[in-house]
Amino acid sequence: MRAVVYHEHQALPELTTWPDPACPDGGVVVRVGATGVCRSDWHAWMGHDPVRLPHVPGHELAGTLVSVDRAVRRWRVGDRVTVPFVCGCGWCGYCRAGDTHVCPDQTQPGFTGPGSFADLVALEAADTNLVRLPDGLDLVTAASLGCRLATAYRALVTHGRLGSGEWLAVHGCGGVGLSAVLVGVALGARVLAVDTSPEAVARAADLGAEVTVTDDDPVAVVREVTGGGAHVSLDAVGTAATAVASIGCLRRRGRHVQVGLLLGSEATPPLPMDRVVAQELSVHGSHGMPAWQYADLLALVSDGTLDPARLVGRVIGLEDAPAALAAMSLPPTTAGMTVVRLST
Ligand SMILES: [Zn+2]
Ligand SMILES: [Zn+2]
Repeated sequence: MRAVVYHEHQALPELTTWPDPACPDGGVVVRVGATGVCRSDWHAWMGHDPVRLPHVPGHELAGTLVSVDRAVRRWRVGDRVTVPFVCGCGWCGYCRAGDTHVCPDQTQPGFTGPGSFADLVALEAADTNLVRLPDGLDLVTAASLGCRLATAYRALVTHGRLGSGEWLAVHGCGGVGLSAVLVGVALGARVLAVDTSPEAVARAADLGAEVTVTDDDPVAVVREVTGGGAHVSLDAVGTAATAVASIGCLRRRGRHVQVGLLLGSEATPPLPMDRVVAQELSVHGSHGMPAWQYADLLALVSDGTLDPARLVGRVIGLEDAPAALAAMSLPPTTAGMTVVRLST
């Protein structure tokens, strides 16, 4: 099969011929139709996240099953699927409780093993992890579901308990931040988008954000605009400063959701726990979404309330994927998500 492979961190990946993956016990092999280019792939390529070399990146995939292990019950060759970026083992207590996204024995295609910048990718524990795609949803659009959109959906619905008419502040208007804007609008919230880049907040406004804020220190502005603070505030950036600012933007009993990964020296921000107690704020971490929860998200997509195609920018071929990954070293653009199309 064709695959994009890198042999060293930060060395330009190459499009090459690579052995086809074997079908795992209890798993499947997917012919990749489309796969998103994500900042997490770039972090792994840079060496910020440990991956075993040589490595095939890619985790935001949609495709068609070409091989199904005989132990798999729910899936057949030809089914169109996507998959969360975290795959649970299917057996442990967390998986049995439906919390596959925090499974201690999780696999992550494109991180713990070869990913979807390839014609074929193997996925484990298919009955636990696969998500069936609605017939009308094309594979390029579906590639946005596995990572950023699902992450934003669970963060706002499960952790934020975001209600119609409530104020949502979104800190950071990159991939997951813009997804949160789109989901927030679909849920009927009043969305306030924060980013120091005027272009990024303009994109958020296109997607339905009612108010945009470009101040370095957005807390006072957000609290004033929202009449005392947001009901839900989401940090999609992942720095100590943005995590603290996100909590600062909350009204009493507000909910902060941390989605941006806090890496290295940013990992332990000084959160104002005195205010968390006195005002009954809640602080949540959110990490992807289990497969079973996609049904609610896909219902919003199917009835037209939420259009993930609005997140897609450029569609490229697999031969252009190495350059697209490397281009993430440049300052972010507002062009939207880059999706690699491999087959239909
Ligand atoms: Zn991703
Ligand atoms: Zn498990």
